[in-house]
Formats: sequence, structure tokens, C-alpha cells
Amino acid sequence: MPARRPAHPVSAAQAVGGPRPDVLVVGGGLIGLLIARELIHAGARVEVVDDLRAGAASPNAAGMIAPIAESSADIAFAKMALVSRDLWTELAPALEQESETSIDYDRAGAILPVLDETGRKVLAGIREQAEDLGEPTAELDRAELLRLVPDLRPGIETALALPGEHRVDNRLAAEAAAAALRRQGVILHRATIDSVVEEPGGVSVTGAGFAAAADAVVVCGGAWTPEIHGLPTLPIRPVKGQMIGFDRVDWPFSGAIRTPSFYAVRRAGGRLLIGASVEHTGFDLSLSDEVGNGLASGAAELLPALRDRRPVEHWAGLRPGTPDGWPLVGALTDRLYIATGHFRNGILLAPLTARMITPMVLGQAPDSTAPVPAAMQPGRFHQPAR
Ligand SMILES: Cc1cc2nc3c(=O)[nH]c(=O)nc-3n(C[C@H](O)[C@H](O)[C@H](O)COP(=O)(O)OP(=O)(O)OC[C@H]3O[C@@H](n4cnc5c(N)ncnc54)[C@H](O)[C@@H]3O)c2cc1C
Repeated sequence: MPARRPAHPVSAAQAVGGPRPDVLVVGGGLIGLLIARELIHAGARVEVVDDLRAGAASPNAAGMIAPIAESSADIAFAKMALVSRDLWTELAPALEQESETSIDYDRAGAILPVLDETGRKVLAGIREQAEDLGEPTAELDRAELLRLVPDLRPGIETALALPGEHRVDNRLAAEAAAAALRRQGVILHRATIDSVVEEPGGVSVTGAGFAAAADAVVVCGGAWTPEIHGLPTLPIRPVKGQMIGFDRVDWPFSGAIRTPSFYAVRRAGGRLLIGASVEHTGFDLSLSDEVGNGLASGAAELLPALRDRRPVEHWAGLRPGTPDGWPLVGALTDRLYIATGHFRNGILLAPLTARMITPMVLGQAPDSTAPVPAAMQPGRFHQPAR
């Protein structure tokens, strides 16, 4: 079936100097890149502009695809997260094929050790919700735990296993998405966008040394989105997360271990990532020894073998947070769209976000598997311009 063209016709005046794209995506984090990919697959001409900001969330995340563990407080969020998790199972091999690189996608699940009586009750609630949603769960005894994670401290007798939690190397996934786009001829510009202006027939986008126009623009600027002039006031705030990484971890278990105070996520090649702080300190990206040491000692309490090791990496990234914890996905005006504010779950939700917004931008009927919930409508925070 031939792909449909965008609803917005290309204006001849703007096409001087080469055909302008149907859609310009501003921001090339994982959200922007996967939206560009989905738009391309739907037949649109797409370009991406990104300024490779230090602290961007996508390369600095933990890469957990954790629909159950991240959604215990909100069943609607959990249902949506499960749809996106399922999309990852198709997306991961497709990205690897399109880019001819591995993205270290792993489906080993997550282990949530029972640390005390309070924890036991919390985990019972998570288990109940998972089972209500039709997700598999299991209780692991100490022997099974030690087979998977030989370093576990004495006294941990049981854990909840969530086999439906996945993980991906988010750095590799973003690089693979960019490589896949380039292979399809998509131009990835490097520039900082200062403003977007909707005009009759299109949207113009300008920044230092950069000017372009497109029929439609999707803004995916993560925590920096509100800095772009021409957008309505949006309450997106940076929420800093510091993480550390250890080398030479060789447990059989290749998934994530989660406790209330930290998570430990495996990577291929023996790397183990420990995260993450949650800091409301604006755009500051400085690394604090106090936070790094706190993550290391917290992890070593559960995994004593880490006590004698020094982290080989310490970094920070900025999550795009919103007041209600839900992303903003949808139209701001006729031709201007936004997809950001995914806070702690942008890696998990990236494929579904791309699926949600693509038909909207192209003027197509919504994908019935990916309706945009009211909780994500950008209009909940502003009155659309008249
Ligand atoms: C420490 C940490 C751990 C995390 N762990 C997880 C996890 O385990 N699972 C999960 O699902 N999520 C996790 N997240 C959250 C996830 O990383 C984010 O929700 C997601 O990456 C947001 O993607 P994005 O593309 O919207 O933003 P970003 O990745 O921040 O990308 C925004 C891009 O826009 C560009 N940009 C911004 N402004 C402009 C401009 N004016 N002009 C041009 N370009 C611009 C930036 O350079 C950047 O590349 C974590 C985040 C952090 C920080």
C-alpha cells in the first residue's frame, strides 16, 4: 500500500534550493530519532536537527524497559508502558538490522529482592498488579538468586522476578537509530534552534547559522524544550540523574536488580550501571562525590563484591520532567507538534511515542494500537493559540 503524504501541502516558494522536508524534527534524542524513523517508514521526507547537548537524557540513561516496576502507582501508565515494551521486541531487531550494529537489547527481566517487611508488602502489591495485567511473575528463593547473582549479600532469602522487564543499551540504541536514518538518506543537521514560527503553509525554524522550513515540525528537545521561542509556555523541567558504572561483573543474570534506593543494570561486556539520583538542580551537570559514593555504597550493601571496586564511570543526565509525570505528546498548533517530558521512562516509551504521533503529523487516522491518552495531551498545560 503506498504511504500517504502529509496533510499539509508543500509550498512552492519554500522549495527553492531543494525540496524542503515534509517534517523537521527538532531534537535528536531517542524520542526525536524514533519519531523521524516512523515518519520515514510512513513515507514522509524528514530531516532532524540536534545540537548534541551535554547531559541529554537518551545517551545518559540506564536503559531499563520496565513497564511494571516503573508503573506500580498508575495502572493506566502500566498498560501504556506494556504496549511500548512490546513494540521494543520488534524495534530492537529492526534497528540492529537497519544499522548493522548491536544495541545490547536484553529480555532477562528484573529481580526485586525482598529487603524487609515493608518491602515485602510493596513487592506483593507490584506482583498483584503485574498478574492483574497478565504479566508473568515468580518468587525466587536464595538458591535461585545465587545462581543468577552470586554476589548477593547473606540475608536476602527471596525476591520477586519480573521476567517481562527488558533493557537496552540506550547509547547504542540512539546511535543505531541515527545510523539507520542516515542510511535512508535522512539529513541530521547539527545546530541549536532558537525559534519556531508557524506561517501560512508551513513552519520556519531558525537558529545560529541555521534556517529551514517544513510543512510540519515536531519538537523533541527534552529538558531544553522551553528554551525554544515560539512555543507556548510549557512546564518542562530538568531533573538531574547521576549514575556510576563498574566493570568486570560476570553474573549469569543479564537484567536489572531493583531496590527502593538504587537499581543495578547490566550491560554487555561485564559493565554494571548503578543509578540514579533524582535532583532538582536546574541545568547543572556537575558530579558530586557524595552522590557517587552514596550510589556505590548503597549497591555494595546488597552486592558486597562491589565494595573492593572503584567505579570506572560517573556521569549525569537531565530527565525532562513534567508536573504530573506524564509526557506531552500531540499538537501545539496546526503544524507544530511536541513529544517530550518522558521523565524517567523515555527509553521505555520512545517506540510508542513515535507510533502515537506519526499519524497525527501526517494527517492520518490514529493507529488503533497507539491512541494518545488525554493524560498526555499538551493542551492540559496551556491554552492553544487562537
Ligand atoms: C540518569 C537517567 C536514567 C534514566 N533511566 C531510564 C531508564 O532506565 N528507562 C527509561 O525509559 N528512561 C530512563 N531515563 C529517562 C530517559 O532517558 C528520557 O526520558 C529520554 O531519554 C528523553 O528523551 P528525549 O529524546 O526526549 O530527550 P533527550 O535525550 O534529552 O534529547 C533531547 C535532544 O534535543 C536536543 N536539543 C534540545 N534543545 C535543542 C535545540 N534548541 N536545538 C537543537 N537541539 C536541541 C539535545 O541536544 C538532545 O539531543 C533516564 C534518564 C536519566 C537522566
